[in-house]
Amino acid sequence: MPDCIFCLQQDGDSVVYKDEKCYVMLDKYPVSRGHLLVISRDHYETVLDAPRDVSGHAFLLADHFAKVVKEEMEADGVNVTANIGKAAGQVVMHMHIHIIPRYLNQARNYNFGTGKEIDESVKQDLMTRLSARTHRPPSDL
Ligand SMILES: [Zn+2]
Repeated sequence: MPDCIFCLQQDGDSVVYKDEKCYVMLDKYPVSRGHLLVISRDHYETVLDAPRDVSGHAFLLADHFAKVVKEEMEADGVNVTANIGKAAGQVVMHMHIHIIPRYLNQARNYNFGTGKEIDESVKQDLMTRLSARTHRPPSDL
């Protein structure tokens, strides 16, 4: 899709991992520090529209990067979630899975897309920390 931002951002400076089916990037409007997105390389409107090998791969990556980001960010927990359809809060209509580090001192509720844009210095720090760990493809994928 020519004007879809998730089709266009696959080589962007927020991408921490990429393989033949999916890529992982920092969310531009993070709900919390270290908020990542797992996104298919090909365009599918929702997770349910993707072939199972793509959606399955995306969830395996989400499992892997949830562990990485929990450890790296010293988070107390992680939300792994796919918003499927506008009614479920999906904002960009290209399949993606959110990985959101959570902290005990943080408010329980959050809203997607309402936060402020990621700060450039925070972005650079996260790229440095996560890239060191995430450019190696997970061996079991
Ligand atoms: Zn797209």
